Amino acid sequence: MSTKEKLLVSACLLGANVKYNGKNNLINISKLKEKYELIPFCPEVEGGLPIPRPPSEIASTTPLKIINSSNEDVTHYFIKGAKKALDICKDLNIKKALLKENSPSCGKNFVYNGSFSKTLTKGQGVTATLLLKNFIKIYNEKESDKLL
Ligand code: SF4
Repeated sequence: MSTKEKLLVSACLLGANVKYNGKNNLINISKLKEKYELIPFCPEVEGGLPIPRPPSEIASTTPLKIINSSNEDVTHYFIKGAKKALDICKDLNIKKALLKENSPSCGKNFVYNGSFSKTLTKGQGVTATLLLKNFIKIYNEKESDKLL
């Protein structure tokens, strides 16, 4: 059994082809792997969405509404994925997560603004919000050095 601290990581950052377009966002994880046991997780796939899938954006935060590019309401998939992420963190005693910036699930500081025009706005993804509310520290891929 590994004695390393566990780190939840957006699965696409680890090279899993789980993005809406069937691709990934692989980053260099060699140093992180030395220090942590990396736990890959994709909230959108775990919430029940297929690969590939239409991209989704946050249309409203109060009430929460996520729509995809076909204007379908996919909010419940995002909520389900976020809850599963929190459950895994609780079950495995995970205190930190490295999440992909700009995603409607994983984004920490910015998300797309709901107009499907590639426009970012300040905001947080659904999973990032739930984890932060539960005192799990979030880092985006540009902040991974802070984890070392
Ligand atoms: S939901 Fe998160 S882990 Fe899944 S593809 Fe999007 S950014 Fe990556």
